[in-house]
Amino acid sequence: MLTRFHKLTIGGKLHAINLLIVGLITLLAISTLSGYMYITMRDDYRNNSQTVSSLLAESVTSALLFGDKKSAQEALSGLRTVAYVTHAELYDQAGDLFTAYVKAAAPINAPANPPPKFDSPKFDPAKFNPAKFNPASYQPDIYFGNLTFDSAFPIHSIAQDKEQIGTLALHLDLSDAYAQLAYQIIALLLIGLLGAALVSLALSKLQKSITLPLRALTETMRKVSEDNQLSERATPTGQDEIGELASVFNQMVNELTLSKDTLHQELKERRHIEAKLSKIAHYDAITHLPNRHSFNTQIDRVLLNYKHEHEKFALLYIDLDNFKYVNDTFGHHVGDLLLGKTAERLRTSLRQEDFIARLGGDEFVIIISAFTDTTQIGAVADKILTALQGAFTLDGHEAFVGASIGIAICPDHGKDSETLQRHADNAMYRAKTLGKNNFQFYQDELSRTQKNRISIDAQLRRALERKEIVVYYQPIVELSSSKIVGFEALVRWIKQNGTVIRPGEFIPLAEEIGLIIDIGKFVLDTSTAQTALWVERFGLEFTAVNFSTRQFKHPTLSEDVYHALQNARLQPRHFEMEITETVLMDNSTTSMKLLDTLINQGMGIAIDDFGTGYSSLSYITSFPISKIKIDQSFTAKLPDDKNALAVVTAIIGLAKSLNLKVVAEGIETQQQLDCLATLGCQYGQGYLFSEPLPALAATQLLEARNTRPAPPAASG
Ligand code: C2E
Ligand code: MG
Ligand code: MG
Repeated sequence: MLTRFHKLTIGGKLHAINLLIVGLITLLAISTLSGYMYITMRDDYRNNSQTVSSLLAESVTSALLFGDKKSAQEALSGLRTVAYVTHAELYDQAGDLFTAYVKAAAPINAPANPPPKFDSPKFDPAKFNPAKFNPASYQPDIYFGNLTFDSAFPIHSIAQDKEQIGTLALHLDLSDAYAQLAYQIIALLLIGLLGAALVSLALSKLQKSITLPLRALTETMRKVSEDNQLSERATPTGQDEIGELASVFNQMVNELTLSKDTLHQELKERRHIEAKLSKIAHYDAITHLPNRHSFNTQIDRVLLNYKHEHEKFALLYIDLDNFKYVNDTFGHHVGDLLLGKTAERLRTSLRQEDFIARLGGDEFVIIISAFTDTTQIGAVADKILTALQGAFTLDGHEAFVGASIGIAICPDHGKDSETLQRHADNAMYRAKTLGKNNFQFYQDELSRTQKNRISIDAQLRRALERKEIVVYYQPIVELSSSKIVGFEALVRWIKQNGTVIRPGEFIPLAEEIGLIIDIGKFVLDTSTAQTALWVERFGLEFTAVNFSTRQFKHPTLSEDVYHALQNARLQPRHFEMEITETVLMDNSTTSMKLLDTLINQGMGIAIDDFGTGYSSLSYITSFPISKIKIDQSFTAKLPDDKNALAVVTAIIGLAKSLNLKVVAEGIETQQQLDCLATLGCQYGQGYLFSEPLPALAATQLLEARNTRPAPPAASG
């Protein structure tokens, strides 16, 4: 009830209070008046019966004294003028009925004027039985709700002793009196309700003088606060509190409008300053190009894009060839002008989407994305060189500058900002040493000195002797059980200074100079010996070893493998050869006989980097292959790239139909793993499980797997 009241509007609340107060007052008035009327009625009847009794007592005293019943009856018959007395009895001193009076019924159809005659019926004492006065049946007073009132009145002698000589009993019928009282109360109620309604109406009219201005004020406030209509003002309604509230509100809105305008102005100024500061922070004041800070942000962005989309990009480091000379000869002002004009020429040589920044001094950097061929980058570098060749007219002076450009490509020359910048810078210096005004792509240390074969040959040979060539092992995991079933042996060159050189950087050279045979033998011997230990200790299934074209073509290939297995006491079924499609296509191999024997004894042949080669499928059926390794370039694009997904699905399908095992290489994420597992790929290899590890760490991994929970398995 109270909560419902709280939910009412102010108008509603006032209304409810009005109704309550008016109702209560009306009720109180009516009940007081009704009570008063009842008491008056009761007093009247009590007093009247007293008066009537005392008058009658005077007339019947002598009749009682002389036993004159007739005159007593006559005296009682005078009661017929008292309408509410239904009957009366007169008792003598002994309490015996002396005489009585009974009111006659009014005659039917009696004329109204003259008044109806009442015939006193004959008194029959036999009807009053027992005709003895009984004081217990008389009431001392009229009680509420009783429709009759029986009263007894003592009659005293007029003698000196005033002795009681009899009792007069009167019987009153109060129903008429009550009926009248009821009519009066009903009339009172009707008048009261009418009055209450009129008062409520008047009050609600008065209330509107409060609620209407309040409602108008609320509406204005809502417009200001919710709709932001700051031009809205409340209409002043008078001198009362609401009027005061309206004017205070208007004043508040005025101030708000004022401070909002000020704030707006301040914000505008602040944005202007911020834009200026941002420009200073991100742009170079002389050339208006993005500065080093912006470049760092940009390269992070394209690297991220490379990570997700595998989109290549090129980094071009540009150093002006003659800048120092111009600066020293004509002064800094001219130097600055030259930088500005260089920036303009660079900009016009590039596409809109290429990024260009000034790193400081006379160094500029360009990021070119979305190209298909590195020759396109060469063409851009050429265009830049040509653009910078023309004479610069600077404040009346004519100057000529050239540029040396170093280029690094992501991912070919690095996959992180630091490496790419270092390599681009490196290439730029080489361009300078090669006679300036040219561009150079980055070449790694080994390939750069490739011409000096004897030196590299010696280095690699020395590396073998010094045991700088080591074998790392990367686990191959069965996806359904997450069990390490095998390892791939991957060669590393760990220089004495600790630098780890990956096979990609020295295997091609080792192939070219023939050293691959010695390296291959070393890997073969080391890995077979290691595998024999693992097979014995951990029940490992196999180790896979990579064989390049030259190794595979080598006349002693079969013997080498055979002897390695023999020396290590390793069953051929625990050994697998990994060869690429290219190796297999160039199948002019000798001494296949022994190899065939080993294959028959269970040695596995896996096709490495499957899907990237010449895709002639005929060799798959003509050569005893046991396994296919899906190239990591496909895995990397899973699960979103539709083409990669189609290729991988097809490879798995093909392998299944030819009864070959499938390994996915380069699994780096759980999503790739899940996707491959769903497609039905049996084995996986990649950083998600483990990077290639030295033998000791690989042993520890195998040990740990026996006691600890397995590494990530395909979910779902
Ligand atoms: P591969 O046979 O395809 O070996 C897999 C390569 O992928 C390895 O590179 C391995 O480190 C890398 N890899 C493994 N998991 C992931 C991954 O999750 N993400 C990425 N991005 N890469 C992963 P590595 O060790 O640099 O070897 C490169 C290639 O050099 C090998 O490719 C193999 O063809 C050749 N190679 C390695 N060792 C030998 C060897 O002893 N003899 C011969 N002939 N070639 C070898
Ligand atoms: Mg391999
Ligand atoms: Mg591979």
